[in-house]
Amino acid sequence: MDDHRMLVVGEAVSALFQLVRSPSRCSVLSLQKKCPLTDRSSGQKAALTIPFANILWAELSDHDLAIHYAKPTTKEVVRAAVLSCPMGASHVKEAPEWIDKLHAAAYGMSQRQKRFKVLVNPAGGKGQALKWYRQDVEPIFAAARCRIDVEQTTHQGHAIELAQTLDLDAYDVVACCSGDGLPHEVFNGLGRRKDAIRALRKIAVVQLPCGSGNAMCWNLNGTGSPSVAALRVVKGLRTPLDLVSITQGKRRTLSFLSQSVGIVAEVDLDTEELRWMGDTRFVYGVLARVLRQTVYPCDLAVKVRYEDKEEIRAHYGRALRSNPPRGPHPDGDPDEDTTSQHEPSGQGLPLLKFRTAMDELPADWKIVPGDKLGNFYAGNMAYMTADGNFFPAALPNDGTLDLICVDGNISRLSAMKTFLAISSAKIFDLAHVSYRKVVAYRVVPKGQANGLISIDGERVPFEPFQAEVHQALGTVLSRTGHLYEAPGVVSRP
Ligand code: ADP
Ligand code: MG
Repeated sequence: MDDHRMLVVGEAVSALFQLVRSPSRCSVLSLQKKCPLTDRSSGQKAALTIPFANILWAELSDHDLAIHYAKPTTKEVVRAAVLSCPMGASHVKEAPEWIDKLHAAAYGMSQRQKRFKVLVNPAGGKGQALKWYRQDVEPIFAAARCRIDVEQTTHQGHAIELAQTLDLDAYDVVACCSGDGLPHEVFNGLGRRKDAIRALRKIAVVQLPCGSGNAMCWNLNGTGSPSVAALRVVKGLRTPLDLVSITQGKRRTLSFLSQSVGIVAEVDLDTEELRWMGDTRFVYGVLARVLRQTVYPCDLAVKVRYEDKEEIRAHYGRALRSNPPRGPHPDGDPDEDTTSQHEPSGQGLPLLKFRTAMDELPADWKIVPGDKLGNFYAGNMAYMTADGNFFPAALPNDGTLDLICVDGNISRLSAMKTFLAISSAKIFDLAHVSYRKVVAYRVVPKGQANGLISIDGERVPFEPFQAEVHQALGTVLSRTGHLYEAPGVVSRP
């Protein structure tokens, strides 16, 4: 903790108590007006307003009340700080109840003192993950009195192994200090277990943005800052997440983020030389290729849920107005959640309803002409990069994947418009972009010896593949409990 500033509340403690008594009426713990605070170092009266969202923990030791909170030091950074208030004997008795109320206001439905298995990828992004974890993440988790067990990954696939053997009863969350690669591995490790369904329901997978692609964190925490993300994860609500089975030959993997063929896959996988551009490389790379008007012919078949844009908008609007699904008791074991109680434990992944890409195509799937396909992109989340809101109708657990196709032979003007629309959620409204919500699809590349397919940003063999959504199979933490942070096709009230 780098801020030891002591603020003395002294006689104002009862006024302080008064403020938290009816927390529903105020969203900030305001010490400003009613409590004459004194900053011990300067002896001056200090003013302080702490949003409940930033309160991490409070505790009493002897006659000292300590309030730990996340203090913004710049727009992008918060640091663990502590307020210390010596209390008169008369108030000490009242304090435990007051602390309870403060915690209730600070955490709401979010589980307190989460137990974290932290995985740090020293090879992710700019190689700074361990430094950022120590400096930005750990102090916030520690101040919130979370239990932490940290491990660095030593090789590719290590997070799969760790998730496969994780003690489910010892942890609530696996937190990946990495890019999107480690969460992908963790979901797959949990998915390979004999008790995959229970593991994926019980363990929330989160990302602290320390890689070059941090889409997961942008979608669920709305930030690319490790310290702000740490605070939001501490306060995060358990949220079911659709996961997608990808089958290729006899292999089955889980995807949580995206699948792409053609232009986007090329950019996802093939722009190492553009890494210095950061996130911009992604949109730049897409533009460069769209302008070259490359086509990637393939056969595409889809099991559609919605393909009319107005229907999709209405579907999204309903989700926006709905309440988040009721999670487990805020302080409780997620096993007490009624949904998991009825879940047969000891089950591996759900069966594939639509079999695999090697089987006959189900009769009710729709064939989409793919001879001029320039870009095939399917997403389970909205943001694919910090400024790339490709799927503004995506929802965490509606049982569908969002799918966009752009013709490869559109005019340069249309290509330019597509590019400009990506960062503003307007891609949805472009006439030359088809937007579907599907529960399954199959892609069979044609007339190309080799090309690129990307699953969650990882390269897979250039072979036919099939995708099938499993509604709410996985678990993450989010701010709202049921929505992504990206602007959607219907604005929030
Ligand atoms: P980035 O966003 O920079 O790609 P990720 O966290 O997504 O970062 O990880 C990229 C890859 O690094 C993953 O495939 C992961 O398996 C791999 N990896 C994990 N630990 C190590 C390690 N110690 N050395 C090399 N690669 C690793
Ligand atoms: Mg969805």
